[in-house]
Amino acid sequence: MLLKELRTQVLEANLELVKRGLVLYTFGNASGIDRDKGLVVIKPSGVDYDELIPEFMVVTDLHGKIIDGKLKPSSDLDTHTLLYREFPSIGAVVHTHSEFATSFAQAGLAIPPLGTTHADYFYGPVPCTPPLTDEAIGGRYVHETGLAIVNYFQQNKIDPLAIPACLVNGHAPFCWGKDAHHAAHNAVVLEAVAKMAYNTLTLRSECAGVSQSLLDRHYFRKHGAKATYGQ
Ligand SMILES: [Zn+2]
Repeated sequence: MLLKELRTQVLEANLELVKRGLVLYTFGNASGIDRDKGLVVIKPSGVDYDELIPEFMVVTDLHGKIIDGKLKPSSDLDTHTLLYREFPSIGAVVHTHSEFATSFAQAGLAIPPLGTTHADYFYGPVPCTPPLTDEAIGGRYVHETGLAIVNYFQQNKIDPLAIPACLVNGHAPFCWGKDAHHAAHNAVVLEAVAKMAYNTLTLRSECAGVSQSLLDRHYFRKHGAKATYGQ
């Protein structure tokens, strides 16, 4: 089987989203990329999670052409492939409609860094894209969804590995990471951070959030050359 290990990793990432309560029914999808081969492995469209096996994963090239697989790929494939083409540092993409992150997306609001949980994973606000135009929605909608994310990151000079998530306005979050395990982990943490931010802003709407020094302290404890967290 082509890309057996990557298929298994992507399958496990998809199941992790279910286990952590991030997806209802067949909403949500995860994919991973083999950069050497230039091939993407993605969940098939509309298959129940408890029926998923590695063989059902769909292999495509970076432009969405199916290389291996009998099932239709996830309907969000064009967003995933665009993110892989434009963010060469990422190795996996996860999309969910998890409740609290999606609530921020629906409100058209970024998730501000209000505490150290956020700062441990996201080096600044998790942005929300501008709304898609009618033209974009009526055109290559799934591609345009990816473009909204990529444009936001490029225009604001955000490193996609420093902030491994973006909210799509009126829709939901897309997260990513160096591999499928980390992308799913980031999606789970994003949902927890969004829930805490919602609660915090409910208690105190003008909450100032973390200082730059606290953001730096926590982010760089876990990331970069001087990271000290863990074994
Ligand atoms: Zn969606």
